[in-house]
Amino acid sequence: MTCDDSIRVAIVGGGLAAASLAFHLGPTFGDRVTLIEREAGPGMHSSGRSAEMIRQAVLPPPVARLARRSAEVLGRAKWARFRPTGSLLLGSEASLTELRDALGESDALPPGADITRAAAHLPPGDLRAALGERAALWTPTDGIVDASSILSHFLDDAARHGVTIRYGTPVEGVVVEDGQVKGVRVDGAFLAADIVVNATGAWVGAFAEGLGAVPVGWSVLRRHLAHLGPAADIPRDLPFIWDIDAGWYLRPESRGLLACACDESPSPPCDPQVDRSVLDALGRKLSEAHLPLDRLPVRRCWAGLRTFAPDRTFVIGFDPCLDGFFWMGGLGGHGVTCSWAAGELGARLLAGESPREAESFDPARFLDHSAGEAGAIT
Ligand SMILES: Cc1cc2nc3c(=O)[nH]c(=O)nc-3n(C[C@H](O)[C@H](O)[C@H](O)COP(=O)(O)OP(=O)(O)OC[C@H]3O[C@@H](n4cnc5c(N)ncnc54)[C@H](O)[C@@H]3O)c2cc1C
Repeated sequence: MTCDDSIRVAIVGGGLAAASLAFHLGPTFGDRVTLIEREAGPGMHSSGRSAEMIRQAVLPPPVARLARRSAEVLGRAKWARFRPTGSLLLGSEASLTELRDALGESDALPPGADITRAAAHLPPGDLRAALGERAALWTPTDGIVDASSILSHFLDDAARHGVTIRYGTPVEGVVVEDGQVKGVRVDGAFLAADIVVNATGAWVGAFAEGLGAVPVGWSVLRRHLAHLGPAADIPRDLPFIWDIDAGWYLRPESRGLLACACDESPSPPCDPQVDRSVLDALGRKLSEAHLPLDRLPVRRCWAGLRTFAPDRTFVIGFDPCLDGFFWMGGLGGHGVTCSWAAGELGARLLAGESPREAESFDPARFLDHSAGEAGAIT
């Protein structure tokens, strides 16, 4: 599809995927873009419930390249409020070497990433005593951001360029005529659009249902985060620590730690409720790692949804079956990290460009149902 000067775009969703796309489209498309969010404000679902970590050493490599590109920008941008903590991915020598080599061979290794002993990057104290001898992939350019500040920046800038932003407005359906998108239905009225962008997060599959778009086979998985503390001796610049074999992570969070058991349970798209049994699993994992944290009070626990395509690679691009339908979905567990670059890629495609990196994210890959799991690290 080629975009000309009269093309109108309706972006459905008000999370990071939608906001970043609006931000990148703003300067060229301006007032021809409308972003429509069902909730009363932006980021009320996955984008407002994340751990806000910028992690670049991820699989598959095309996602890692987007992560690296985003991290370069977010790491410099005042509005991202980036804290350069670095990260330690713990694992067996074999799994870390496999990860490093897979990224290195695909030009996707984050700058400065190297395998080391965790002790080299942990301050003296309980964490170093428990984990110091573990092998780790150290990524010095990883860190922690403020996702709501990023979201606000994207949306404020888009609005400055003339993008219309509507909250409290569920999109009730997409209007299709002769296999071509014509617009959306909102508040019982018709809003004309030549392109409708599906950036609805966990609702990405439900939103496309019955339209004749390519069948992706989405998984929506619930994950919990727990804020533990108060805990003494947790420096604000402690690297985030992620055990990729055992499946847990933690990072500093106001006078304590934010911890996750890397749980994944299938969920319908919804406002997910907390299942407190996950805290037991978290406690078990932390004590198996000899971390004296399982007795820390839980200050707060919440759940969010992560949405994946079957190959755990983002889906960004025009639908191969339905003219004018554009996907910005499946950002899984990397939508904060990759927010800037995912929106940039989407905007380039909508402007009629054909960037080489777009191939890996092309929804047309689901026309071939033999596409398999890519062994992604989550
Ligand atoms: C517990 C947890 C921890 C995470 N930690 C990290 C992390 O540390 N680093 C990282 O990079 N990523 C992390 N992520 C992943 C990241 O949060 C997501 O990838 C990202 O937020 C997805 O953004 P999104 O815009 O696609 O979805 P969302 O933020 O969910 O936005 C979708 C929006 O679409 C709206 N919508 C849906 N249907 C309609 C409709 N019909 N009409 C109008 N609006 C509609 C919804 O209301 C919603 O606001 C984490 C996720 C979770 C759950």
